[in-house]
Amino acid sequence: MKVLVTVKRVIDYNVKVRVKSDNSGVDLSNVKMAMNPFCEIAVEEAIRLKEAGIATEVVVVSLGVKACQEQLRTALALGADRAIHVETDQELESLNVAKLLAKVIEEEQPGMVILGKQAIDTDNNQTGQMLAALTGMPQGTFASKIVVDGDKALVTREVDGGLQTVELNMPIIATTDLRLNEPRYASLPNIMKAKRKPLVVKTIEELGVSIKDHTKLLSVTPPPERQGGIKVADVAELVDKLKNEAKVI
Ligand code: AMP
Repeated sequence: MKVLVTVKRVIDYNVKVRVKSDNSGVDLSNVKMAMNPFCEIAVEEAIRLKEAGIATEVVVVSLGVKACQEQLRTALALGADRAIHVETDQELESLNVAKLLAKVIEEEQPGMVILGKQAIDTDNNQTGQMLAALTGMPQGTFASKIVVDGDKALVTREVDGGLQTVELNMPIIATTDLRLNEPRYASLPNIMKAKRKPLVVKTIEELGVSIKDHTKLLSVTPPPERQGGIKVADVAELVDKLKNEAKVI
């Protein structure tokens, strides 16, 4: 079984995000970029399926600027076999990512597609679901466990108040939640080996997919600055302030 895994290049989660002064977006100049954490979990799951003898090939795909190849190389160093980069300087909204991925799926015919549940830059949580709708493949979103059993997959989903397990007919689309696994680190020899693994670059035109924007970003604003705290002398003063100033009791 071939497993296709999506890898998005995003701002590193340790970086304190700066908003551009004209509120047109987040300032990405000289900022550390990394693989989206939920995509790291997706790559790890695919590699584990390969190590278990269930997957035969792990193909990673990223859409975006040339530098996305850094994240694809990281995925190759972690154990993926080959990479596909759909290169574009265009900002891609989730529906356009899903349309392009649907075309890659048509060409690659994977038995399973694993995406992150959400990209930590845009927080959309849409691509996997849209991809399932476009391809007609069954979806197991927010997966905390994936078990392949012949031509079926059991996906345990993290839902409000507990876990839900669904049985899906392969090929399937899964999106990863935090507890699915703990991703490994790439070893230095594997980082070196990854440089020689195949990485093909395609354009949107080559995929023959026409895309258009349906949403327009109007503005981005940082969260309000936190106000400083105060010290109170005793419990009576605290209760008084909660009652009369904060008005929360
Ligand atoms: P989103 O719906 O934007 O929150 O993204 C959900 C998941 O879709 C991400 O975790 C990625 O696995 C995948 N994805 C979204 N955008 C891209 C992209 N440009 N390249 C590769 N994968 C992507």
